[in-house]
Amino acid sequence: MCCDLHTHTTASDGSDTPSELVSLARESGLSAVAVTDHDTVAGIPEALALGAKSGIEVLPGVELSVVSPQGTMHMLGFLFDVESPELVSALKLVQEARAARNPKILKRLQELGYPLSEGELREIAGTGQVGRPHIARAMVAKGYVRSVSQAFDKFLKKNAPAYVPKSILSPREAVDVIHKAGGVAVLAHPISLDFGTFDRLEQLIDGLVRDGIDGIECFYSEHTKELTDFCLKICRRRDLVVTGGSDYHGKAKPHIKLGKGRGGLCVPDWCVEKLKKRGDKIKCRG
Ligand code: AMP
Ligand code: ZN
Ligand code: FE
Ligand code: FE
Repeated sequence: MCCDLHTHTTASDGSDTPSELVSLARESGLSAVAVTDHDTVAGIPEALALGAKSGIEVLPGVELSVVSPQGTMHMLGFLFDVESPELVSALKLVQEARAARNPKILKRLQELGYPLSEGELREIAGTGQVGRPHIARAMVAKGYVRSVSQAFDKFLKKNAPAYVPKSILSPREAVDVIHKAGGVAVLAHPISLDFGTFDRLEQLIDGLVRDGIDGIECFYSEHTKELTDFCLKICRRRDLVVTGGSDYHGKAKPHIKLGKGRGGLCVPDWCVEKLKKRGDKIKCRG
């Protein structure tokens, strides 16, 4: 059976509510689903409650943006205590950084001749964490760009004219806060590290192992078989847990299907068992 350990809801930039996501996971025949919203755990209680009622295993998760020497680095946390005071206060800081960043991006866009108001942005984002995908959608709605990907390419991606960095946690700080909450820390989608060669990727991962990561997201919608196999090999050699997920965002990324990614993804459900074992060890240690 397959599971999906990387998904987004309306608590961040996905289009499904936590309940819709869990229902879809159950209907899709997945054995388990982890909710991993960007920098928030606000969707977890609703997802866990429906999971308990409807008989699909739901894992608490989070995807933290961290400072990266190159590319984009995201750290997944799994199976933590949602109410951990350390986690709650770290998320508060991260959310404040995010909230401070959005007006800066809007100011850049204004200077570039593409004004957008905070109200227009909020209308698109709803009540969840606001991020660049919402700004991109607002730009499409205004007719400034043809598509979300064009908004990223021309304005919002790293080093583009309206890009403003947001991450405030170092990888080590992210790992520590996940561990303090009793959770398992996993490097998300290594593809986004923009690593160039596999040797460089291995160097980056070795640095993260020194920072204390527990695992790597080897199975991922945008990974080639070669990259997946390379990550699996590193996990075997370094005794890291293997996870995987689609990075489902619902209508916000319509080409990515829950559990299936671009079509060929199946994250084996043994990932969940190993993840839970590692989680138990971390909780014992703490
Ligand atoms: P933020 O949290 O504001 O930094 O935005 C991160 C989100 O933007 C993630 O969900 C990414 O999948 C999405 N994203 C990053 N680059 C692109 C892109 N080129 N096209 C569409 N979405 C993107
Ligand atoms: Zn996202
Ligand atoms: Fe990510
Ligand atoms: Fe994600």
